[in-house]
Amino acid sequence: MKSIRDNCGIFAVYGQAPCAFTIYQGIDFLQHRGQQYCGIATYDGGVRQITHHGKVINQFTDQDLENLPGTWGIGHVSLRERQPVKWQSLQGEIAVAFSGNIINDQELKQEMMHRGKAFWRGYNVELISKIILEASDTVSGIADLAAKIRGAYSLVVLTREGIYAARDVYGFRPLILGQGPGQWVVSSESRALQNLDLEIVRDVQPGEIVLVNGSGFTTVRQLPSPRRAHCAFEWAYTASIDSIIDGLPVLAARQHLGAALAQRDQADGGLEADLVAPVPMSGIGHALGYHLHSRLPYQEVFLYNRYADRSYTQANQIAREKMAKRKLSVLHYAVKGKSIVLCDDSIVRGTQILNKVDDLKKAGAKAVHVRVACPPLMYPCDFGISTRTYEELMARKYLYQGDIDSLAALRQLEAWVAAQIGADSVKYNSMDHFVNALGLPRTDLCLKCWDGHRPQE
Ligand code: SF4
Repeated sequence: MKSIRDNCGIFAVYGQAPCAFTIYQGIDFLQHRGQQYCGIATYDGGVRQITHHGKVINQFTDQDLENLPGTWGIGHVSLRERQPVKWQSLQGEIAVAFSGNIINDQELKQEMMHRGKAFWRGYNVELISKIILEASDTVSGIADLAAKIRGAYSLVVLTREGIYAARDVYGFRPLILGQGPGQWVVSSESRALQNLDLEIVRDVQPGEIVLVNGSGFTTVRQLPSPRRAHCAFEWAYTASIDSIIDGLPVLAARQHLGAALAQRDQADGGLEADLVAPVPMSGIGHALGYHLHSRLPYQEVFLYNRYADRSYTQANQIAREKMAKRKLSVLHYAVKGKSIVLCDDSIVRGTQILNKVDDLKKAGAKAVHVRVACPPLMYPCDFGISTRTYEELMARKYLYQGDIDSLAALRQLEAWVAAQIGADSVKYNSMDHFVNALGLPRTDLCLKCWDGHRPQE
């Protein structure tokens, strides 16, 4: 099981008809961003809210949706916090849902507790809500977040006057606007809009606060943005392959990253192989890009078992690993005697790719050459993606200095990783190739996973 996990997805609708079912569908289309909790809040003279532990499709019932009246509302899927949260305040009843992470949360909580504030569970969303509610109005409260919070947030706030949608001043996490007849929608990713037959309007800009109501979208405040810092990992792994993030289609980005790996093999004198294959699902776009550039046949070598996706409910680690193994079974006929280029988005702890290489070798593969779209992961994320700790990152165990700009250092690391996972060769995209393949200015990206620099510092 891939050990990178997303944290949250948010969705909101303002319309003229009951909105609960649309929100249910919207958060279902964002389920890949978090599978632990799901929730919906709607406004009907006050806030109605229902949250569950588990996936949207398994947990929300018809009765739940009937108990969520109203024509505007917000929804959330999450890895670690149950949201939306509902509050009674002088601003009326509100509900808040957010995606991201607050680095200075302990500091902020201490300061607020010294002023007499109390916290229930200490969730980040609780902190965000209290900062918003301390202000005289919702817009000023959202604006105050920028001055107080170090970290990343995209958020939606459900109020009596409509829904506020906002993105932090760096634009770490995505947020996009869409519309249909009599409907205005906010989503973490465009795939929810596309799949609901809505038209994509535009991305929310870093630092922008948008009011969504019967007049459509109104920018009620634009905070100054020191720079953009879009999470580069969204295009490589986090976002769904059918989404468009900040104008760049995820599929195109992954194909470019795969093509860059093929170019590197060509530049190194070419690679003798029979086929290129993905580690499903995250390696598919990268393998396609490698195939299109190299002309090597594209072939699936693993079958994804869609009915074995409940590994988080297994009782212990051994049971979870067994279930994770059942998720991807080897297509023996396609593998036996073949030299395979195996593409994946990244290597975190190295356990998943080690198991996949082992599975292919046991099925009779002649050789397995692993190609990795992202440069070696050297630093954990501070901005809302669970990429594990320093100690768990495989590349970190070998290369303590984080010197991945040097091709010589990268080659040494690759030889070490290949030996660890039993592959015949391993190649990563270098930082330059990675950034060039994405095609966005380096200064518009967060690359902290790889270079250790927080864009805010
Ligand atoms: S640290 Fe990595 S995962 Fe986190 S926002 Fe930056 S690029 Fe994305």
